[in-house]
Amino acid sequence: MAYEGLMVSVSGVRGRVGEALTPEIMAKFAAGFGAWARAKAGGKAKIVLGRDSRVSGPMFHPVVIAALQSVGCDIIDVGMAPTPTIQLAVEHHHAAGGLAITASHNPIEWNALKFIGPSGLFLDGNEAAEMRAVVDGDIKRAMWDELGKVERDENANERHIAAILALPYIDVEKIRARKFKVALDCVRGAGGAFMPGLLEKLGCVVTSINLETDGRFPRSPEPIAENLGELEALVKKSGAEIGMAVDPDVDRLALVSDQGKAIGEDYTLALAAKAVLKKKKGVVVTNLSTSRIVDDIASEAGTRVIRAPVGEVNVATRMRSEKSPVGGEGNGGVILSDLHLGRDAPAGAALILQLLADENRPLSAIVASYPRYIIVKDKLDRPKGSLDEVYAALKAAFPGAEADTQDGLRLTWPDRWVHVRPSGTEPIVRVIAEAPSAEDALKLVKDCRVPLDRMK
Ligand code: MG
Repeated sequence: MAYEGLMVSVSGVRGRVGEALTPEIMAKFAAGFGAWARAKAGGKAKIVLGRDSRVSGPMFHPVVIAALQSVGCDIIDVGMAPTPTIQLAVEHHHAAGGLAITASHNPIEWNALKFIGPSGLFLDGNEAAEMRAVVDGDIKRAMWDELGKVERDENANERHIAAILALPYIDVEKIRARKFKVALDCVRGAGGAFMPGLLEKLGCVVTSINLETDGRFPRSPEPIAENLGELEALVKKSGAEIGMAVDPDVDRLALVSDQGKAIGEDYTLALAAKAVLKKKKGVVVTNLSTSRIVDDIASEAGTRVIRAPVGEVNVATRMRSEKSPVGGEGNGGVILSDLHLGRDAPAGAALILQLLADENRPLSAIVASYPRYIIVKDKLDRPKGSLDEVYAALKAAFPGAEADTQDGLRLTWPDRWVHVRPSGTEPIVRVIAEAPSAEDALKLVKDCRVPLDRMK
């Protein structure tokens, strides 16, 4: 079944509030998810439910509860919480699954329902297909005496913070002794009720903006460098040693250096991996569109990077099969196996503070000790013909490059790469290139557009 204007992907269903995303749609998917999870669990099922701070969250929240009750699922309601906190709560309660009402970094008019499986990971392709079949079929409802019950869990945030502080990579006393001056921007998302508590436990002196958890984002909520001007100014004004920005559901972390400059969200994973690899060996897993700064950090630590198709669950499942201690995405999403297999900004923040404590030099100096790369991103309408022709043409045009075809086509050279892939949610093709200079990266993008433009 198609739903007009709704973006349905493996991990969730997303739309604009008041347009494609209505309470009816949320109820239908929540009920389908609950029925699927209940069948998988063999009859009885507990589902963990949480939401970010979006204005539409309190409207959808009771709808999702009712839908889950209607299919006989018991609900453990963690209220407003970061997405990683909800994932951890699924594991903690041995639940049959979890639902997060969040549109992550998307603008204020969006919301979404994200589906979490019993292991605390987002659904994979097979699970999502099974669940969709239930959503589109006749959903079996519970009778009056089988309706689910609702229980409130007030301790999810505290458990998550305690789990981070107990990680073998985090020396709480060493970090506390430094009394780091941190500038924080939570964009009025769920992080406002989480990040200050974590940073205080780590002995930081915090100056913050946008901690209100009312979902009225004062800027575009994606934590990319161009959106962090206010945080950059705060770092300078307060003399902070580091600035931290999280997205509304707190799974992405971006950093501003002591010089008041956003260092680019690719560095979050690279620096967090550096902190982990000092204490535990293993491969680093990331996706095909992530900066090669991660390769530099890995080879410095005597290990290597394995690349998975784009999509958080692809990285997470690959980390599991490769027994990788740390991985994630170049968008500021750090995944730490010892905590749970999902992007976790609070864990990333603790690791970065650990790195600063270990290195004993400013963040700007650490960043300056690595090569800089420039990423250029482009997108164009998806051509009518098969993309296989495009990939073949590109492989022929660049015989010297190493080709990876797990997810579109990625061509790699020792100091640069380009990735051509169809979007999973929109009728577009993305072209992303990285090279030591903007000029070289732009050239790669232009070269790859040639066979695509020819097909128009
Ligand atoms: Mg997010």
